[in-house]
Amino acid sequence: MTERFTGSFTQQESIPDEAIAAAVEVMRHGRLHRYNVAPGEVAETARLEEEFAAFTGARYCLAVASGGYALACALRAVGVGPGDRVLTNAFTLAPVPGAIASVGAQPVFVEVTEDLVIDLDHLALRIGENGARVLMLSHMRGHICDMGRLMEVCDGAGVTVIEDCAHTMGAAWDGTPSGRHGVLGCYSTQTYKHMNSGEGGLIVSDDPQVMARAILLSGSYMLFDRHRAAPPAAAFEGLVGETPNVSGRMDNLRAAILRPQLRMLSDQVARWNRLYRAMEAGLADLHGLRLIPRPAAESYVGSSFQFLLPDHAPAEIEVFLSRCAARGVELKWFGADRPAGFTSRYDHWGYAAPDSLPQTDRVLKGLIDMRLPLTFSEEDCAAIARIIRDEVARG
Ligand SMILES: *Cc1c(COP(=O)(O)O)cnc(C)c1O
Repeated sequence: MTERFTGSFTQQESIPDEAIAAAVEVMRHGRLHRYNVAPGEVAETARLEEEFAAFTGARYCLAVASGGYALACALRAVGVGPGDRVLTNAFTLAPVPGAIASVGAQPVFVEVTEDLVIDLDHLALRIGENGARVLMLSHMRGHICDMGRLMEVCDGAGVTVIEDCAHTMGAAWDGTPSGRHGVLGCYSTQTYKHMNSGEGGLIVSDDPQVMARAILLSGSYMLFDRHRAAPPAAAFEGLVGETPNVSGRMDNLRAAILRPQLRMLSDQVARWNRLYRAMEAGLADLHGLRLIPRPAAESYVGSSFQFLLPDHAPAEIEVFLSRCAARGVELKWFGADRPAGFTSRYDHWGYAAPDSLPQTDRVLKGLIDMRLPLTFSEEDCAAIARIIRDEVARG
């Protein structure tokens, strides 16, 4: 009999009981807004910021309304404005170029390698061509480039790095947490990421001026002294009147849900990586399918899985995908002509200047992607891998 998979690629785990209890507590007292505190009370949001700063080893942290908001706020905080060019990965998701466009700036795309990281030679070339002063580096699908070399290239050219860590919360390069190489690290706590508050974002930085600006931008009114993982009052001087309020705060309900999840994150990462390794083992040594190598310096979070079918024509990939789907295995393809679901490509983003990126086109043409939700077991991953093997071999 033909094997079918019956699990759901989009089903999350439930919110932990401890987080539900904390959320109920916030709803009972009613002080959901982060600056609405009883005398002597420290808001859940301020506590989450302290705890996330400690988790990443950052001096400062700010909790905001979404990952996309975090990215746009980071751009504004380093002074990006209308007409500026911002370098970013050609292989990423729509919120990244969207954040750049939201501040009136122009995304300038950098090629992806077949290991799914930013091409550092092309980056160096683009810096020279464009004179862009900021790189928004997306650790897309959790693949981290050689951060030592990236920082050398950027520092050498005076390029400020903002990290999009939507897929690398809990990951590290050479022992340094993802988000701690650049001036700012931005994270998402949206449902499909590594912690789930429905919507939400976090920003970390060691730079007092930049973080003071980010806090003011997020809509702190004159209440920035209620933040704890924040720079001293002196850092805000001179910025208060100059910095627009672009409200995008996180509320205490979301923070209450996230604090217990942060305590569990390291265990969750270990669970994700067991699923990832089960999938990797199941797909090893298959002719025509290229696995993505994971460098020794990279501590990744295997919350999603990618592979390449480099020699398949688009029509063959379409057949492969529909056969897998018929057997319950929902795969995403980055080579489709039209954007579908969460998956779109640099040439679909019509607000950016048209560009030609032949290497990225070649890689994305064969790139297959799937989520690994924690509701899967290692046996589920082995079953999915068997179905994929079958269908690749059949093709
Ligand atoms: C999810 C995501 C973001 C942030 O998105 P929000 O939905 O706004 O939290 C940023 N970059 C990437 C690559 C993402 O996948």
